[in-house]
Amino acid sequence: MNLFIEGYEGGFRLARVSLDGDIVLLGDDGYATRLGSVKSPERLSTGDILTIDKRGRGYRLYSNEEHDATVFMTGNCNSNCIMCPTSDRERQMDSGLPDARLLAYIDMLPADVSHVVVTGGEPTLRPRLFLKVMRKLTDRFPHIETLLLTNGRSLSVSSFFDKLIAYCPPYLCAAIPLHGDTPELHDRITRAPGSFEQTDRGIRNLLAAGIAVEIRIVVTRLNQAALSGIADLIIRYYPTVHTVNFIGLETRGNCAKNFKEVYIGHREAFEAMKGAIDALIEAGINTSIYNFPLCAVDTGYWGICRKSISPEKIRFPAACDACAAKEECGGFFSTTLSMTKPQVKPILARKEAGA
Ligand code: SF4
Repeated sequence: MNLFIEGYEGGFRLARVSLDGDIVLLGDDGYATRLGSVKSPERLSTGDILTIDKRGRGYRLYSNEEHDATVFMTGNCNSNCIMCPTSDRERQMDSGLPDARLLAYIDMLPADVSHVVVTGGEPTLRPRLFLKVMRKLTDRFPHIETLLLTNGRSLSVSSFFDKLIAYCPPYLCAAIPLHGDTPELHDRITRAPGSFEQTDRGIRNLLAAGIAVEIRIVVTRLNQAALSGIADLIIRYYPTVHTVNFIGLETRGNCAKNFKEVYIGHREAFEAMKGAIDALIEAGINTSIYNFPLCAVDTGYWGICRKSISPEKIRFPAACDACAAKEECGGFFSTTLSMTKPQVKPILARKEAGA
C-alpha cells in the first residue's frame, strides 16, 4: 500500500497524482481529493498512477520518477516452476485489473514513458485482452522497447502467434526462461509436462519472425550442472537471440518452499555459470548477469552484472557499509538476505578488486 485516504467512500478507481495546490488525486472519472485526507502523500510524485480500492487504499501502478511502465496482466500461470518467487496462492489468483481498467491505465500513461514491461503470471493467459494491450501499446508507444515476460508456451500456437505478429509493438522483445538442456530437466523445473517443446517452438517462431528474444536462465541447484549444455543448445539452435541473462534466485514463494531442493549460493552459482557465459560470449551472444552481488562474481565479469533488483526490494548486510563497490553493486533481495544470511566480502579499494 502506498497511501490511505481517510473517509473514502468512492468505489474502485484509477487516479493520477497531482501535487499542484492541495489537490492530490484526480480520478479517471473526474474524482478529486485533497491533501488533508491522504496519509503518507510524501511518497507520491506528480504523474504517478494508482489504483484506489473501495476502502481508500492506494497502490502505485506507475512511478513518474522512474518512467518505466509495468502492465500486469494476471497472477495466473500455466506453469508452476519449482523456484518461482510467487506462491501457489498468488499464482492461482487472477489479480490483474479488469479489462477496461487495464486499457484505461495504458491510456493514462504519459507520452514520455521510456520502457514498458508486460508481465504476469503468464501474461498471455488473457489472450483477447493481451492482444488488445499489444495493439494499444503499438499505438501509444511505437518508438520504445516493450519487454514481454512470458514462458513462451502460448507462442507455439500458430493462430495466436500470427495475431501477435499483426498487433505487436515494433520494438518488442520477448524474455523467455529456459531451464534445462533436455525436455526432461526443463519440464521437471516447470512441473508442466510438454512445456519444453512448447517453449522451444515459441522461441523459434519469434526468431523466424524477426522479433528480439532474450533467454533467461534461472540458476538453481537443479540445473547448475546443465548450464554449459543450455549454452550449447542456445548457440546451436537459437544463435540469433538478442541476449542471454543468467538470473539469481529470489527466495520467496515456491523458491522459499522448496529451498533445500533449489537454492544455490551466489558464489557457487557463479562458478557453475562461468563456462557457459564464456561460451556464449565467444559465440558473439550478448550475455548478462542479474541479481548477483559483485563480491560473488570474478571482477572480469563485473561489466556484465546488472543492478536488476527493483529498488524497494534491494537490501545489503551491515558489512557492505565498508565496501568501496556498494554504489555499483546490485545487492540482495530482502527475502534472500533474511533467509540465507550470506557472507559478503567487502571490497576495500578498487585496486584490491583488480577493477
Ligand atoms: S560487500 Fe556488499 S556491497 Fe560489496 S560487493 Fe559484496 S554485496 Fe556488494
